[in-house]
Amino acid sequence: MKNDCTFCRIIHGLEHGAFIHQDELVVAFLDINQASPGHTLIVPRIHVPSWWELPDEEAAAVARVAKPIMQALRMTLEPDGINLVQNNGRAAGQVIFHVHMHVIPRWQGDRRFGRPPAYADRHTLDKRAAQLRAALHKIGCA
Ligand code: AMP
Ligand code: ZN
Repeated sequence: MKNDCTFCRIIHGLEHGAFIHQDELVVAFLDINQASPGHTLIVPRIHVPSWWELPDEEAAAVARVAKPIMQALRMTLEPDGINLVQNNGRAAGQVIFHVHMHVIPRWQGDRRFGRPPAYADRHTLDKRAAQLRAALHKIGCA
């Protein structure tokens, strides 16, 4: 745990996160700036800045959970497509230096990655997270 890392703080319950999934290796919660409705972050529990430092087991866990999360997003929000995006380093657009994968639902004709991304209030995020948790439960990934 890195005390000044926002994602470590969310993982350890020191800051609010709208969680949709938690297991022993990774968690997933909604991005506070929803590039599109349902924009989710999959975050390994260990504090590692970049993907190239991530142990294989955690990297596999991110991929493993991406699939049911994408299915849950499709079930609840019916997007036309979904981007998986992963930034490493400031030059690549990384802002939070705790490795994470973005899962971004897309709709035909939407503006690419929604500019500017829409800040979502806590109530909206919590409501959306509850829908996604229910969908994940239905497909056996609680
Ligand atoms: P990146 O540019 O790949 O480092 O993305 C970092 C993401 O973390 C951005 O999309 C932010 O909106 C998101 N973010 C920052 N703070 C929080 C927070 N407290 N809860 C949820 N998402 C956050
Ligand atoms: Zn961290």
